[in-house]
Amino acid sequence: MDEFVSRKRKRPTSPIQDHSTRLQMSGPAITQDQEESTDVKLTILASLAPTISQEDLLELLISCDGYLDNARAVLLYRNKAPTSPRKKLTSIGLQSSLGFPTTNDPSKAQKPLTRKGKTVHLFSSADIAAHTPCSIIHNFLPAEDATKLLKELLAEAPTFPRATFKLFDNVVQSPHSAGFYVSSLQERERQKSEYLYNGSYLSDVRELLPEMRKVSSKVKDAVNKEIAIRIAKHYPDGKKLKYQCPHEWVPNAAFVNCYDGGAESVGYHSDQLSYIGPRAVIGSLSLGVAREFRVRKIVGREEKETDAKHKEETDRSRADEEGQIAIHLPHNSLLVMHAEMQEEWKHSIHPSSTVDLHPVSGNKRINITYRWYRESFNPRYTPRCKCGIATVLKCVQKKKENRGRYMWMCQAGGIPGKQGCGYFEWAEFTSDGEPLWKSASAPRMQETLPA
Ligand SMILES: [Zn+2]
Repeated sequence: MDEFVSRKRKRPTSPIQDHSTRLQMSGPAITQDQEESTDVKLTILASLAPTISQEDLLELLISCDGYLDNARAVLLYRNKAPTSPRKKLTSIGLQSSLGFPTTNDPSKAQKPLTRKGKTVHLFSSADIAAHTPCSIIHNFLPAEDATKLLKELLAEAPTFPRATFKLFDNVVQSPHSAGFYVSSLQERERQKSEYLYNGSYLSDVRELLPEMRKVSSKVKDAVNKEIAIRIAKHYPDGKKLKYQCPHEWVPNAAFVNCYDGGAESVGYHSDQLSYIGPRAVIGSLSLGVAREFRVRKIVGREEKETDAKHKEETDRSRADEEGQIAIHLPHNSLLVMHAEMQEEWKHSIHPSSTVDLHPVSGNKRINITYRWYRESFNPRYTPRCKCGIATVLKCVQKKKENRGRYMWMCQAGGIPGKQGCGYFEWAEFTSDGEPLWKSASAPRMQETLPA
């Protein structure tokens, strides 16, 4: 109990930079889960939910793999929701852990977890692996290593650029900032002159920092293990997916996102496949403030997206119609987005009206997404459009006839003030996801690219 009281007095040590964001210090910000005994954890939970029995709190804690942060998040969510304590706890925290098969045995087909208008909140690693295309490792790094890495990136974050992109006729600014890191100086120079993102070259490419580099090899080992488990337990016949690369996953690039306060977010999207190839895997390490990562399965249908407002509405109504899953990403958790994710699901970071301050980062969440830029997807090989620039790789996600097929498309339309040429060709791969270039034109070695 002394431990609890002394921790409760702790306040964040770093200054809060965004005063416009409403903050709520609704309980002790504890990140060193391993240090607490079960009794201490139950005492803390009981202080947050005095009406819930010890047995129910223990059950909740077990459903959260014993992680206090996750159990606290369930209770805090429940406190905000206008419903009876027992009912809410059951529907978001406990019941979802029970009764759903987690194997690839087709005779035990999974009941869909989501339904119209609902957001299901998942906290435990078993639930996340069973119901989403992701798996999660809580408390991934030794606590002091996670803090060192967080501090290293907090020092960089104020200089992260905020991407601008074109959404139909409007130029919009990303609702969070991000830095891009690669493993060598040579790669850095190549990135700035060869790799296009939304039709433009990045002017700010950085070299991996010492802590990021150290952690990168741990992420590599963990992600490769998670991929093997995923294949064995979740894919048909225990075999990798068609087009999934069979080789070891080797992270060599990282986008680092900074979400400064609960209002900063990112809308539903899939990650760009051009340089990581089809059925790619991404390792995403969360540090600092815990935020809600939402995923929803893409539903095929014909659609006409005529303007930004209409697109926003359809995005919202679609998430509503199919339901969505919120995965809670606490400090020092590694989320693996598996091979089925980018083609079949969309993901977002949901805005939050309140955040629980983190003792090191205040109201900031830092997120490192480790990626493997594959040599065979180097833009020097990629088909070029009539604008003379490398095309972008997309997967048909909605239109029924061609769903799951890949295509190379002009990306000049993403540049503010420019119209694309509309170029398109089908992309073909071996079953191991190696690109099959058209023999007449490949490989397309171009030493000089148009500006
Ligand atoms: Zn073009």
